[in-house]
Amino acid sequence: MAPVVKTFDYLVIGGGSGGLASARRAAEFGVNAAVIEEARWGGTCVNVGCVPKKIMFNTALHSEFINDHKDYGFDVDVKGFHWSRVKQARDAYIKRLNGIYESNLEKAKVEKIVGHAKFVDSNTVEVNGENISAKHILIATGGRPLLPSIPGGEHAITSDGFFDLEDLPKKVVVVGAGYIAVELAGIFNALGADTSICIRYDKVLRTFDGMISDTLTQELEHAGMKVCRRTQVTKVTKESDGTLTLDLNTGSKMTDVNCLVWAIGRVPNTDNLGLDNVGVKLDNKGNIAVDEYQNTCVPNIYALGDVCGKALLTPVAIAAGRKLSHRLFDGKSDWKLDYNNIPTVVFSHPPIGTIGLTQEEAEKEYGAENIKVYKSVFTPMYYAMTEHKVKCSMKLICLKPENEKVIGLHMLGQGCDEMLQGFSVAIKMGATKAQFDDAVAIHPTSSEELVTMR
Ligand SMILES: Cc1cc2nc3c(=O)[nH]c(=O)nc-3n(C[C@H](O)[C@H](O)[C@H](O)COP(=O)(O)OP(=O)(O)OC[C@H]3O[C@@H](n4cnc5c(N)ncnc54)[C@H](O)[C@@H]3O)c2cc1C
Repeated sequence: MAPVVKTFDYLVIGGGSGGLASARRAAEFGVNAAVIEEARWGGTCVNVGCVPKKIMFNTALHSEFINDHKDYGFDVDVKGFHWSRVKQARDAYIKRLNGIYESNLEKAKVEKIVGHAKFVDSNTVEVNGENISAKHILIATGGRPLLPSIPGGEHAITSDGFFDLEDLPKKVVVVGAGYIAVELAGIFNALGADTSICIRYDKVLRTFDGMISDTLTQELEHAGMKVCRRTQVTKVTKESDGTLTLDLNTGSKMTDVNCLVWAIGRVPNTDNLGLDNVGVKLDNKGNIAVDEYQNTCVPNIYALGDVCGKALLTPVAIAAGRKLSHRLFDGKSDWKLDYNNIPTVVFSHPPIGTIGLTQEEAEKEYGAENIKVYKSVFTPMYYAMTEHKVKCSMKLICLKPENEKVIGLHMLGQGCDEMLQGFSVAIKMGATKAQFDDAVAIHPTSSEELVTMR
């Protein structure tokens, strides 16, 4: 074994959301910490996830609003849309963020190590041919897009490649029914690409509340997207003019496709990490198995964030990372992240906000007779003036024997992305329907509907 060149109290593998948050919090307690990153500082969220995605969502919103300008009295002569201009500005912003993340580490006195980390033993990691040891090691290596193994699959891109596109493709096919698929398809569609989404079953977002899943599937079509149900791509052929021809399981073909995007799920970054050298165990889906305190089966090795496969969201990785540092280095021996009631937003068109149990889950857990569901479907006032209208749907799920405690809140419509955070506090505190009703409504807003449902 090569000699150990450096020793730390806390060594974090992965400079993404969870790893950076955990290392910086540990350093606040005087811990000698280091982070190893093999690619770009900030991880998925900053480079190929939340941040560039939200910029493209905002870009798509502009496109939608432009269509409504005339209904609000404006004559706007739009001369064109320049994807490359947005991309350039977006890339520059992300580069600035990479620098900010790096300098934040420096300010926090966390050592930065660039390279690929691999376990040698339970206290030692090899990077760039050198061994580094630590008392505690955190695995926060995140995940990457899953690729199908079909003939010609290499001609497609994933969500990572979406952010490399230099121009808006004319004809796009997105494969997948999860949140990344509907978000990317929604952006393409709103910006004017001929967009199809191929889904394995009949609805998108099938794990969400039925109201959300049904309504969003309809809204995608209402917005002009082609929803190809029970459709899988079985073969991709690149033609001499550069377009793609897709063979489908239905027996038909899609031709003249300029861009095919796989958004069929993500896999954890656990390979080539030397996990076998230390005996860290994976669960049956290949994620790192951890207990509720982020402990792996090896005493001084922990894991969190996407590599654990649970609630793949940036704030989840950050919160788990900070709690872990408090537990290990700040004497908060029982601190852990509560994975219940995690608010989730999907930046679809229209956006979705959801927290707590779906109606299906609530009925299964408590029995349909113990659940009371309040629903509202309405047209937000913004659309009173516009030709194009998009409805808003809201649902509260309450537990009858417990004074109608609100155990689920699901909504889809304009502004729902920004509405959820405040309501998530109330739900986390165990608010009841009566307490929702006791809050004075804010008028005229869409969110007032949530405190006036009968
Ligand atoms: C398209 C897309 C959109 C998303 N949108 C949202 C959103 O709107 N809101 C939200 O909350 N979440 C969103 N997410 C999810 C979010 O990005 C992740 O949940 C979050 O980044 C997970 O953080 P992490 O620390 O677990 O991993 P990551 O942020 O992925 O960081 C892991 C880091 O580890 C590095 N690494 C891996 N292996 C090694 C190794 N062996 N040695 C050294 N370094 C290594 C990687 O290079 C990476 O930088 C989105 C994800 C995608 C793909």
